[in-house]
Amino acid sequence: MEIKTTANFDLGPIQALVREYFIPYETSHASSQEFPTYLVEKMHELGIFLSPGSKEYGGKSLAVADLIWLIQELSYGSPSMAATFIGNLLGYSALLLHGEGEFKERVARQYAQEQSLWSFGMTEAGAGSDLLNIQTTARRVKGGFLLDGEKNFITNASHSSHLCVFAQLLSEKGEKEGISAFYIQGNNPGLSRGPALAKIGWQKANTGSLLFKNAFLPEYSILGKAGDGLRILTHCLNRSKTLLAAMGVGIANRALDLCTERLSETKRFGKPLLEQATIRHLLARLHTQKEAAWMLTCKAASTWDAGLDATKESSMAKLFSGAMSVETCRQAMELFGARGYLHDFEVSRLASDAKGIEIIEGPSFVQELLIARMVLPKMNGNKQANPNDQFRLLQKDLKRAS
Ligand SMILES: Cc1cc2nc3c(=O)[nH]c(=O)nc-3n(C[C@H](O)[C@H](O)[C@H](O)COP(=O)(O)OP(=O)(O)OC[C@H]3O[C@@H](n4cnc5c(N)ncnc54)[C@H](O)[C@@H]3O)c2cc1C
Repeated sequence: MEIKTTANFDLGPIQALVREYFIPYETSHASSQEFPTYLVEKMHELGIFLSPGSKEYGGKSLAVADLIWLIQELSYGSPSMAATFIGNLLGYSALLLHGEGEFKERVARQYAQEQSLWSFGMTEAGAGSDLLNIQTTARRVKGGFLLDGEKNFITNASHSSHLCVFAQLLSEKGEKEGISAFYIQGNNPGLSRGPALAKIGWQKANTGSLLFKNAFLPEYSILGKAGDGLRILTHCLNRSKTLLAAMGVGIANRALDLCTERLSETKRFGKPLLEQATIRHLLARLHTQKEAAWMLTCKAASTWDAGLDATKESSMAKLFSGAMSVETCRQAMELFGARGYLHDFEVSRLASDAKGIEIIEGPSFVQELLIARMVLPKMNGNKQANPNDQFRLLQKDLKRAS
């Protein structure tokens, strides 16, 4: 299988957007509660949000191997805007991969025209890693479903016009029919939104809660089949982890560029710090780790694009890239000396941005469980994971670990 190492599209306009708008915004003192609508508009103007979608719906049909280049660039200037894009794509990809017929076409066209945002609602107060514990319900009623419950820590929650939400499907009598995925429009009268959360990283991305009270969803709102929710969730998340890995590389690129600039300007003991041998060795090691993370990310992307299952590669890329970017930013803070400890210097913020990769879309511990299942021989009754069965087996592993 060929591993792509260059982007298939012109990155120039993206790089210009990042340098002209993203870096000044991310380093500004704008409150983390203010959402940069104008940056979302700029991203729409460049077709960034639609780019993964098919040409039929106004998109560019970018492959995963191209999306990782896009994410790497966005993250270089603003991990928050990259997170806005990734959260958006999670919701949008549920429609693209699992929506059907006239409904899919209508929603995809509406999204393309109005240039709005998507949310992907899986996490709840009592259901993060433990997703089988989802308490949000969708009860069958005449002509559709009634959605009730609350989702927490949802990207774009205050601003999304389109949402994909996971809920326990109930029959009219209240019997469980399995976790299922639903599309809900942002203007549904049964939907309200909690306040934006103040975070230590991805500060300028919007994260909040979604509350559903008797929100009526027409029958066509179910994505895939009844009880298909965990398969849809796994399908979307596994791809998205490759994008989070690319974010780690973008953050590390920025931290290393800032370090190189700073160390070449800072003279200690009569010469620039960048000329100190120990520092050059350290930077050489950090660059090598970053390159290794990028190659894992490229391998995961090429595997998806070849139509194969890349769950293992994607989890490995996120695990490695998250740790690599946290370590790179930690070292960058130290190389900045006292300045690395100040809010006004970007490296300290980058360290918090990098940590998000190790937590979101499944903490590193969960990725390790998944990888172990796929690379190690059967042990204690463990079966090696068949891609279709991953989710159920992972939940078993989590239960056993606790
Ligand atoms: C900025 C941000 C954006 C987000 N965006 C979204 C979004 O758009 N949509 C969405 O649905 N969610 C979103 N999330 C939620 C995120 O994906 C979850 O927080 C993440 O999956 C972890 O779930 P949790 O917080 O419930 O952690 P928990 O499941 O409570 O885990 C806490 C810790 O315990 C460990 N752990 C769990 N189980 C075990 C066990 N059995 N044994 C030992 N250790 C264990 C975990 O590894 C972790 O370290 C977002 C979160 C943040 C912070």
